[in-house]
Amino acid sequence: MILVAGGAGYIGSHMVKTLISKGFDVIVVDNLSTGYREAVDEKAIFIEGDIGDVFLINKVFTMFPIQIVMHFAAHGLVGESIINPLKYYENNVVKTFNLLKSMITHNVSKIIFSSTCATYGLAEKDILDETAPNHPVNPYGRSKYMVEQLITDFEAAYGLNYVILRYFNVAGADNSAQIGENHIPETHLIPNSLLHLLGRSDHIAVFGDDFPTADGSCIRDYIHVLDLVQAHVLSLQMLLKHHSVKKIYNVGNEKGYSVKQIISICEKIVGKKANIVVKERRKGDPPSLVASSQKIREELGWKATYVLEDMVRSAWLWYTSNPDGYGSSNYGKDI
Ligand code: UDP
Repeated sequence: MILVAGGAGYIGSHMVKTLISKGFDVIVVDNLSTGYREAVDEKAIFIEGDIGDVFLINKVFTMFPIQIVMHFAAHGLVGESIINPLKYYENNVVKTFNLLKSMITHNVSKIIFSSTCATYGLAEKDILDETAPNHPVNPYGRSKYMVEQLITDFEAAYGLNYVILRYFNVAGADNSAQIGENHIPETHLIPNSLLHLLGRSDHIAVFGDDFPTADGSCIRDYIHVLDLVQAHVLSLQMLLKHHSVKKIYNVGNEKGYSVKQIISICEKIVGKKANIVVKERRKGDPPSLVASSQKIREELGWKATYVLEDMVRSAWLWYTSNPDGYGSSNYGKDI
């Protein structure tokens, strides 16, 4: 049985759907702070609760034969983390510490942890592989890097097996259009561009056009949520098969797109012109983050199967099929 922490969120819900389709027994713990009950596959056991709730998590580990934990339950916004670092360190670090401690107490010795390319900070190389130095430049990146350090220390001391996946920019949706990205407020580039083109806002902002990049806007590497889920499936298979697993992998498409290029691809797919407004840089945004995913390709046989257009098309299908998201009237608006 697999415990999916944060299984009601954007990435977690896609993971749960795939695990169920592959015949795994899944239990989801999610406090629904940013997730949705409706996003969770109905064949999964759902517990509304907090991963930092030691009493609850100990009970889950006592009641269910959990072999592996997949941990998606975190906050992930750079800007918010700068304004409210308490929230990030409490949720992403302290609560994860509690979860890890309960795992160790109950001899649950395998984890797949959702980390981020934000651990690298200002990229010193054009393409980042896993040996690039970790100098996170915002509290979000630091909170994830701290957990990576907890996990590696617990591996050394208690034999915790781990796969840490450093996600680049995740986008797209399941092709069923039944689950997708539904953040409130929405801050990510592809969703914001599409919601603007859907008529939910009067412009799309380009945060900074004076970065040291070809067109002056930031470069990111975008990965389809279903390719990311597949990286977890392969990690899971390795953890189930082997002992003493301690792996860190980048998961990205190995291609950089600038903010301006992304908006233009969104325009092309939707067939509408966007009202683009250049604004000041967002605090904590590195100019460029592009992955080398060579390690996971070579060691696990993973490869990205979707291109950027697929991500935008599937996200657009999700938005147009679910104009109110999971039923929220605040969908796509800042609150
Ligand atoms: N961005 C933008 N306009 C938006 C949202 C994001 O220009 O409405 C930029 C942002 O400054 C960054 C890139 O797009 O350079 C990706 O941002 P996003 O929030 O999607 O992901 P992040 O890289 O912060 O995880």
